Parts: sequence; structure tokens; C-alpha cells
Amino acid sequence: MPATASRLSVFTESVIRGTTRLANQHGAINLAQGFPDFDPPEELLAALERATRGPHHQYAVTWGAPRFREALARKIQRFTGLPIDPDQNLVVTCGSTEAMMVAMMTACNPGDKVIIFSPFYENYAADAILSGAEPIYVPLRPPGFGFDSEELARAFAQKPKAIVVCNPSNPTGKVFTRDELMEILRLAEEHDAFVITDEPYEHIVFAPHEHVYFAALPGAFERTITCNSLSKTYSITGWRLGYVQAAPAVIAQARKVHDFLTVGAAAPLQEAAIAGLELPDSYYAGLRDLYTEKRDLFLGLLRQTGLPFTEPQGAYYVMLDISSLGFATDTEASAWLIRDIGVAGVAGSSFFREPVNHLIRFHFAKNAATLQAAGERLLRLH
Ligand code: GLN
Repeated sequence: MPATASRLSVFTESVIRGTTRLANQHGAINLAQGFPDFDPPEELLAALERATRGPHHQYAVTWGAPRFREALARKIQRFTGLPIDPDQNLVVTCGSTEAMMVAMMTACNPGDKVIIFSPFYENYAADAILSGAEPIYVPLRPPGFGFDSEELARAFAQKPKAIVVCNPSNPTGKVFTRDELMEILRLAEEHDAFVITDEPYEHIVFAPHEHVYFAALPGAFERTITCNSLSKTYSITGWRLGYVQAAPAVIAQARKVHDFLTVGAAAPLQEAAIAGLELPDSYYAGLRDLYTEKRDLFLGLLRQTGLPFTEPQGAYYVMLDISSLGFATDTEASAWLIRDIGVAGVAGSSFFREPVNHLIRFHFAKNAATLQAAGERLLRLH
């Protein structure tokens, strides 16, 4: 048998998705892969029913159904203030996952370097490698998960083609401040690099923190490739709807990558999701309140274990420090949690470039009853 491509030996399967499969096998409460166990807003469910009877069963326009792109442009404009042209600035993708792959392949030539902050969402390194680029890492250090300016400047001195900024950040829960983002922008301008942002948690930010849209920073739009998704905002991770937003010249190229990767996102789901994009501002305030309650509930439960954990400013992840449990590796600890405690979390090492082995990432995008049940099981860690 011929050998498969060597670039595939450089990274592993997704630990997040693998943990979900193990959780399912053992009937554990799955706080590993981040997705809700509650329904999307009623408006979306009703629109989905209507869409099944409409003329939406064949390919939509490759870069996104026109009505969907128009609604998306209006929604983005409402929150960012940017004048988004649905025909010039958007490509609709299968989730932010595809958007990131498209962004990376659009920006990078083989051999280019890409800066990734560590810890990072595991897709980024794989995306870089699949597009022929080489990831270089800059640490984000606890407790605040800020970066060291000089370290970042040294990484930029290696002439990267792009930097990836996940904000609010998975898995740290960090929300980058305007000053931090301005510093990244200044370095990207100095070294003429793209800034690829991943912002699916834009509406899950806890007071007093606020989300700053990178593309809306003064002078940033031309070099920013924004990747985003409807998954988290409307609780529709299975619909696989996301987008790339960028300047027209970048979008013209990104459309080609997307076209040959997937042709397009599901037509009836684009039609149905318009109802989400048209929800009033009060929906987003409600979403923030809902996740603030969940965060407070889950952190309260974790506090009872007596183990230290990260305090998220945004997104819906917490990293629990399990050093005191005495496992040799976090992978062993994660397997034990699933089998013996009945709660699944992701081994933290899968997010780090550095040899970090003492963290388990849990998410709290679950009903209160699910979080309560998980909390009771986790009490056994005390
Ligand atoms: N972003 C989610 C997580 O980190 C999952 C996304 C995915 O699996 N595609 O768990």
C-alpha cells in the first residue's frame, strides 16, 4: 500500500472530538466538546420548519445564499459599525472551522510562518500545517493569559505571514483588551502580516469585559481576515454555518478556496438562520445573561472541589488544575474522569505548545440541571 501524505503525521486527530466519542461510550456528562444541550431560539426552529417546504433543497450560491449574506451583513454592521457589503466582504462557510482553513489557505504560501498564541484551539496548528505553513508559538501566561510584548515582537521579527487571534479565547476564556489588540495590529502593520481572527464567542462576554472587533480597529480592516460562526450565538453547532469576512481582494481569493473545498453551506439552513440574524438586540443581552448565570453556577460548583481553576472573562470554558490528583498525564486523568467520575473534560495538553499536563478543560454551555449533576459528580474530587 502506498504511504499517505507525510504532513498528516505531524498532528493527531482532534482530542476534543475524540473525548466526545469516549464520553458517549461511557455515558459520561459531556463537558468536553463545547456545545449546548438546549434548543436554539424558537424563531429559528419555526424558520427551519418553513425552510423545509421552500425552494431551498439544491445548492445555494457558492459563497452564500444572497438573502442570508444580506441578513448577515446587516447583523455584522449592527454590532461592529463596519459597512459590510454582502457581495464584496463575505464568504459563507461550513462553520468557523472551514472559515479558518479558508483564511489560512488564502493568506499563506507553503513555508510561510503563522503566529499562534499558546494555549490555542487545536484546529489552528492543523490548519496551518494543512495549508503548508509553519506555526510559531507565543505563550499566553496565567493567570491573566496576557502576552509578553517583547516575545510577540520577536515572533514578528521572524516575518510571519499571519497571526491567529481567537477572541474571546478558547480555551483560556481571555477577552483581549483594546490596547492588546492595538499592539498586535501595530506589529502586524510593521511586518505586513495578516491578522486572522476567530470570534465565535463574540456575544459570550462577561461584564465588565467587552468584545472589541479587530476588523473595526482604526486601519485594521484591510489586513484582517475575520472568521466567525453562528454556532455558539444561536446554539446551532450542528448547522455548520460560519463565514469569512475580509476586504474585497481577499474575499475574491477566499471564495475560490471555499468553492473547491465544500462548494457551499447547507441551503435550507442558511435560509432558516436568517431568523436568528434578525433577532433584536435584547436577544444578545439575554444570551450574555444566560451564560453569566451558567458561569456563576459552574464556577460555584467547581469551587467546592477545592481545586484551582481559570476564571473566564468570555467564551464558556474553564480549565481545572488537577495537579493534586496525582496522575502522570492529563490524558489519564481525563479517561479516569470519564470512566470513574462520569464527567468528560478535554486534556489540557492538547491546547498547549508547552509541556503542560495538569489541566482539564470543561465547558458550561449546558442546562442548569446538567451542570448541577456534573458538579455533584465532581465533588468526589474533593
Ligand atoms: N469549539 C468547540 C470546542 O472547543 C468545539 C468545536 C468543534 O468541535 N468543532 O470544544
